[in-house]
This record gives sequence, structure tokens and C-alpha cells, in this order.
Amino acid sequence: MTAQLIDGNAVAKQLRAEVAERTQALKARGVTPGLAVVLVGEDPASQVYVGKKVEACQQAGLHSVLERYDASLSEADLLARVAALNEDPSIHGILVQLPLPRHIDAQKVIEAIAPAKDVDGFHVASAGALMTGTPGFWSCTPYGCIKLLESTGIELKGKHAVVIGRSNNVGKPMALMLLQKNATVTICHSATADLAAFTRQADVVVAAVGRRNTLTADMVKPGAVVIDVGMNRNDEGKLCGDVDFAGVREVAGWITPVPGGVGPMTVTMLLVNTLEAAERMAQR
Ligand code: NAP
Repeated sequence: MTAQLIDGNAVAKQLRAEVAERTQALKARGVTPGLAVVLVGEDPASQVYVGKKVEACQQAGLHSVLERYDASLSEADLLARVAALNEDPSIHGILVQLPLPRHIDAQKVIEAIAPAKDVDGFHVASAGALMTGTPGFWSCTPYGCIKLLESTGIELKGKHAVVIGRSNNVGKPMALMLLQKNATVTICHSATADLAAFTRQADVVVAAVGRRNTLTADMVKPGAVVIDVGMNRNDEGKLCGDVDFAGVREVAGWITPVPGGVGPMTVTMLLVNTLEAAERMAQR
């Protein structure tokens, strides 16, 4: 069997078109959704990420502001900027790009963002909302994985989903989202004794580890859906995921490629969340 590809670029394109349409409708009511992206320091990867986020906003018709600060910015000054953005009516979503310089407590900064503007979904209020199934913002990468899973048309209800990885930004929220979709969920991590014993039982596997070849063909149930969140480099320096794509695609039913799978979804879900934030505020 050769797995069907889950095309993240195509799903992202469709969702971004829907965002653009809903943005126009909101603009017609006098509200332009606005995202503020705050970058502290010169981290090259972060500069690329924030650039993509701002560009995606512009393409979908959202208002965006990129605030760049020197790495020497004090924690107090950053908190003051976040407080000002919380009060700014033209801004509906605030994203502080991580990592922050060492002298700044990143969690403290995230907790300073108003939960109604926490479009990255990293605030404890957002995590709590996901945990309790109440309205909030789902963090963008796992939320994107849910959209990719939905794009297959496969019902998650009753399926066994195995999430490899338990980070606060990917693994844990991923597991909770799958649970909310009525999957039966197992979370594996670095201390899991026999990873393959779990993944072989899985109808859905989400790999979010950061180590290539974590999931190989012998670890996958025939026909399973495989979502690869990992972003690694192979020996040739090319981008690759956590999954041995060439081997696993011969066993799985559906699989995301890297690049072109989860990657395009993260920024897309940021747009969705920012639009959603603006729509919620407009309803008040
Ligand atoms: P992370 O914080 O380093 O977490 C990695 C998780 O993998 C941890 O929970 C760790 O377990 C687990 N793990 C490590 N080795 C393992 C093993 N041998 N078997 C089973 N589990 C193992 O990383 P992250 O932030 O979740 O990111 C994971 C990957 O996704 C990275 O490659 C990252 O670059 C990528 N990513 C991609 C996107 C995107 O937009 N495409 C977004 C975010 C992240 P312990 O908890 O026990 O240490």
C-alpha cells in the first residue's frame, strides 16, 4: 500500500481563502482584524518566522504590526509593551515570538497577554480552556494537525490516537484536542518503555519529537494516519520530519510530508485564531 498524501499546502490555501473571505465580511462591519507580532533580539530563525506571519496577514487582508526590539530590552519594558497592546483596540491578537533572551521570563510575558488576545494559545487560560472544553484559543501547530486530520474525512471518534511527545506547545495540547474529538488517546515520551508497542496499535500517530526516524515502517499499523510535526535536518542538510517517510508511506493509509505537511498549517491557524479573536470582540 502507498499512503495518500495529506497536502498541508492545499489545506492551508483553502483555509486562508476562508480567512480572507471572513476578514472582508468583518471589514464591511468596520472591524479589521489586527495581529501584533513582537520580536526581541536577532535570532535568525525567529526573524524568518515573524516575517512569514506578517506576510500571511497582509495576504489575507488582516492588519499586522511587527514590533522589533533590541535583545537588551528589559523584561519590564516588554511587559509594558504587552500591556499597551492589550489595550489597543486595533489589535485583536498578540504574539510574542519565542525564544526570548535569557534575562526575560517567557512564561511571565505570555501570562501578561490578555487571554482574549492570546492567539498563540500559550497562556494558561488558553491551556485551561482546552483542558475543560470551554472557548479559548487552541495552539496553532496541534490545531493545524486537527485540520489536516479532518481533511482526510476520517472520523476520529473511537479511533486510537498515539501522540509521541508531551511538550506544552505541541504534544500535550495535541492529545487534548484528539480527546475532545472523541479519540482514545495515548501519550508517549522519552521514558516510554516500548514505543513501538503503542504505535503499532494506533489508528492515528502524531509524531512531535524533534528526532528523525523516530517512527519507522515496522512501528506502524497498516492503513494508519501519520502526522509528522518534526522539523529536523538529514545528513544532506535537507529538512525532514520525525517519520521515516519513504518506509512509512508504504504501510500507512495517509501521511503528511515534510516539508509541505504540518509546516504551512501553523501560520494558517494563527490567522484563523486572530480572525476569531476579532469576530469575538466585534460581537461584544
Ligand atoms: P520538545 O519540547 O523538545 O518536545 C519533544 C518531546 O519528544 C518531549 O516530550 C520528549 O519527551 C519526546 N521525546 C524525545 N525523545 C523521544 C523518544 N526517543 N521517544 C519518544 N519521545 C521522545 O519539542 P516540541 O516543541 O514539542 O517540537 C517537536 C518537534 O516538532 C520539533 O522537531 C519541532 O521543531 C517541531 N515543531 C514543528 C512545528 C511546525 O510548525 N511544523 C511547530 C512546533 C514544533 P520528554 O518530555 O520525556 O523529554
